[in-house]
Amino acid sequence: MKYISTRNSSKTFEFKDVFIKGLADDGGLFIPKSFNKFSKSDIDEFKDLNYQELAKKIIYPFIGNFMNENDLSKIIDKSYSVFRKKNVVDLVKVGDRSVLELFHGPTLAFKDVAMQLLGSFYEYYLNNENKKLNIVVATSGDTGAAAIDAIKGKKNVNIFVLHPHNRVSPVQRKLMTTGKEQNVFNIAINGNFDDCQNLVKLMFADKNFSQDIKMSGVNSINWARIITQSVYYFYSYFLVEDNKQPINFSVPTGNFGDVYAGYLAKKMGLPINKLIVATNQNDILHRAISKGSYEVEKVHETISPSMDIQIASNFERLIYDLNDGDDIQTAEVMKNIKENGKYIIDQKKLNIINNNFLSSRMSEEEVLKTINTVYEKYSIVLDPHSAIGYGVFDKINLNGNNIVLATAHPCKFPDAIKKAINLKADLPEELMFVLNEEEKFDIIENDVDKVKKHIKERIQ
Ligand SMILES: *Cc1c(COP(=O)(O)O)cnc(C)c1O
Repeated sequence: MKYISTRNSSKTFEFKDVFIKGLADDGGLFIPKSFNKFSKSDIDEFKDLNYQELAKKIIYPFIGNFMNENDLSKIIDKSYSVFRKKNVVDLVKVGDRSVLELFHGPTLAFKDVAMQLLGSFYEYYLNNENKKLNIVVATSGDTGAAAIDAIKGKKNVNIFVLHPHNRVSPVQRKLMTTGKEQNVFNIAINGNFDDCQNLVKLMFADKNFSQDIKMSGVNSINWARIITQSVYYFYSYFLVEDNKQPINFSVPTGNFGDVYAGYLAKKMGLPINKLIVATNQNDILHRAISKGSYEVEKVHETISPSMDIQIASNFERLIYDLNDGDDIQTAEVMKNIKENGKYIIDQKKLNIINNNFLSSRMSEEEVLKTINTVYEKYSIVLDPHSAIGYGVFDKINLNGNNIVLATAHPCKFPDAIKKAINLKADLPEELMFVLNEEEKFDIIENDVDKVKKHIKERIQ
C-alpha cells in the first residue's frame, strides 16, 4: 500500500516512512493513496476470529512490505499478551447501550491498544535497520503513559514526553513518571496540552534539530495508531446482540483520532450507521459537526483532561475527504485555519459529514450526573471521558445497537469519581505500587529553545 500526504498527493510513501515520520514534511497527514474495501462476505468470515487474529487481517494490508505476515502475527500476539483481557477489549451491557471497555492494557486507557503494537514496530524496525531514534511526544495525560510503557527498556530508542504541568491527574502523572528505565524522560511544560503539542510540532519543523536527534513521533496523527484502533470497531460488531440492526458508536473525542479510526472502519466496509463525536466543553468538533463552524477557542480545564483540546489534528484527514481528495484545497483550508483560527464548512460538506458523524457536548455537571446515574442504576463506574460517551446517547436518539467507547479506567480520575459518587476508585491490584514510587520529571517553560536544549543534553 502506498501513502500520500493530505497536502501533496503526487509524492508517495511506504508504511515505514509513514510510521517513523508521523507527520509529512509538508505539514500534512499521511493517508493511504487507496485501499480495498472488505466485502460483506469477507467481513462475515471475521466472525469467529479472536481479537488478535482479527487485528492481523485488518492491519496487514496497510503495512505493505514493512514486515511479513508471520512477523506481524508474532508481534501482535506478543504485544497483546500484556493486556488483562484475553481478547484485549470487553463489551459490557449497561442499560440500553453497550460499553466497549478499551482500558485493560498496562496504563489503563485505550491508547495502550495502539501503543503496545507501535512499541513492537519500533523494536522491529530498529533491529533490522541498525538505527537509533528519539521519540518526542506531547500528551494530555494518557498518550504519554501508554507510549512510555510501550518504549521503556527497548534498545536504540529514547522517549521524551511533554505533559502540561499540573494539568494531568496525579494517577496519570505517576503512571508516566515512576519508571526506572534509562531511556524514558518526562518533561512538565508550564502551559496546556495545545502548548505541548505545538512545541513538538515546532521541533519537528526545525529540520536541523529533528534530523540531528533523529526525531520520531507517536502522537495520535500517526497512521499506525489509527489503523490499529480500527480493529476494535470490527471486533465489537460481532459482539452485539443483533448486528442486522444499525450500529452506532459514541466516541469520547479530543484529537479526532479514535473516532476517525471508526470512520476508517466504515470506509473499509464495516456497516456502521453513525459515529457520534462526544466532546466536553472544549467543543470545537461539536460546533464543526453540528453547525459547520470549526473555530478555535480558549481551552478550558475539565474533569476529562484527555479531551481538553482545541486543535483536533486528525480532522485534517476528514477535511481532505470533504474536498474530494484535493490536496491543494486541503492545504489552503489548513493554512486558513492556522492564520484565522477558523474554517466555515458549507452546507453541502456538512451534509456529507452528517451522513457519517453526529456530535454532542457534555457540561461538567452533566458528566458528574451521568457517572452518578449509571452507578446508581447499574453499579458500574464510568470514568469522566467514558461518561461523556455514554451521556450523549441521551441527547441523540438513535435506534439499533448503541456502543459507547470506554476510553479510560475510572481509577485514573479519582477526584471526579469521588465528586460524582463519593467513592474511591482504586487502581487494579497490579498497578497499586505506582502510587508509592518515586517520580522523575523536569519542569520547563513553554519555550521551544529551552526544550530543545534539554533534550540535546540528555541524549549526548
Ligand atoms: C486520548 C483520549 C481521548 C481522546 O481520543 P482522541 O483520539 O484524541 O480523540 C478520550 N479519552 C481518553 C481517556 C483519552 O486518553
